[in-house]
Amino acid sequence: MVIYEPMIHGTCNSSTYRIAMQHNITIVHQDPLFKGYRSDGTETDDDLLLNDLVNFCFVLVGQKHTNFVGGLGEFITSRLLLYVKTKYPYLIKDKGFLPEFLKLMNSYISVHEATNDWNEVNAQSEYEDLKGHQHMSWHRYGYKTLFELMLNTYNNGSGLPNLDIKLNTEVTQIIWPKDGADVRVVCADGSKYTARHVIVTVSLGVLKERYETLFKPGLPQEKVEAIEKTSIGVVGKIIFKFDKAWWQGLETYYDFMWKTEDIEKLPKEDYWMTKIFGAGRPRGSSNTLSFWTSGEVGKLLEVMPEDIVKRKCMELLRKFMGELYDIPEPTGIIRSTWFSNPFTRGSYSYENRLTIQNANDQRLLAEPLRDSLGVPRLLLAGEATDSHHFSTAHGAVDSGHREAMRLINNSELQ
Ligand SMILES: Cc1cc2nc3c(=O)[nH]c(=O)nc-3n(C[C@H](O)[C@H](O)[C@H](O)COP(=O)(O)OP(=O)(O)OC[C@H]3O[C@@H](n4cnc5c(N)ncnc54)[C@H](O)[C@@H]3O)c2cc1C
Repeated sequence: MVIYEPMIHGTCNSSTYRIAMQHNITIVHQDPLFKGYRSDGTETDDDLLLNDLVNFCFVLVGQKHTNFVGGLGEFITSRLLLYVKTKYPYLIKDKGFLPEFLKLMNSYISVHEATNDWNEVNAQSEYEDLKGHQHMSWHRYGYKTLFELMLNTYNNGSGLPNLDIKLNTEVTQIIWPKDGADVRVVCADGSKYTARHVIVTVSLGVLKERYETLFKPGLPQEKVEAIEKTSIGVVGKIIFKFDKAWWQGLETYYDFMWKTEDIEKLPKEDYWMTKIFGAGRPRGSSNTLSFWTSGEVGKLLEVMPEDIVKRKCMELLRKFMGELYDIPEPTGIIRSTWFSNPFTRGSYSYENRLTIQNANDQRLLAEPLRDSLGVPRLLLAGEATDSHHFSTAHGAVDSGHREAMRLINNSELQ
């Protein structure tokens, strides 16, 4: 899950928030602020309205909708129209604004869900927002601080003396005998490890790609089906660095609202540009802008030649903001590779349209593999195995804790 900066979503019962608080790390509220620009270069007239409507949609994303059968986009659209009818009745007759706004929200929420389209996501959801503020920012610290805190290396901490972590070591096979012998972990560099139990936390994308070769013996059919039926999406992020900020104002996001006629004028090969919902200002930096996209466009932008990505994103920026600002060329560009990276093969999981039919899949994914005596030997964790907090950092942390506690609490292992 992503909205804007790396955030802690909710504070009550949040493992990540608790860890930060225990170490007196300053975590700040950072509610986003939006400013709209249209594809003809004009600014949207009423940014209070824009902010109200964007926030209205995002509140709906975080709620359970047990009775609505359909896509998340269909659900949000239906509720938004009721809201607009009551609060902004004049907008209902405005043939321009609402379709443009709904297109913007489709792109926004698709990024949030890591999908192509907001209707790929099931409106019915098991996801649960943690209570408390949803936009708690690590600010300048970033999520790397969470690892430093957990490893006791923050602020030149001495680390954890009994912890032996092998970084940059690819696991190629995990052999989990059912007869009670040790589990063996084989790595690409030829190293081998044995253990009584192994907790695997690779992403759902890696599981999908490698489950046939990674585990020996192979996984039971119901685990394979759970891996295949659950979905992982892609978020794409392109960051431009400028000599100095040329934009003004306090907004977190400059939203790009496409006019239908401008979309129609675009050459087919440039249609992907309409799936970049805007440019965001990372709070930890004063001279960078991030462009966000998702799904197939996210994958495309990972492999498209960098000069084309740069040129087209500059075209986009100038189309929307160039009437108001003299926009210089960027001095640097970096982009994410969540899908191309063989160790992620996606960003995070989402509830697809079959999720309610296959409601047990996330639980099946989390189910450990046991030996013939019923002892859990191969355990699975990672965000996609958490039925209520998948797609988040706190869900990932909790899932690891869940599996560690499964071993610690298992009386057969004492
Ligand atoms: C752009 C973006 C923004 C996000 N923003 C937020 C946010 O603001 N708030 C929030 O709560 N969450 C956010 N998330 C989601 C959060 O980052 C993830 O849910 C979380 O990192 C998942 O953790 P994980 O341990 O399950 O999986 P991963 O982070 O994918 O970790 C799996 C690990 O396994 C390793 N691995 C894979 N294959 C092998 C192999 N064969 N051998 C050895 N190691 C292997 C990988 O290298 C990786 O280190 C965001 C995610 C993205 C992509």
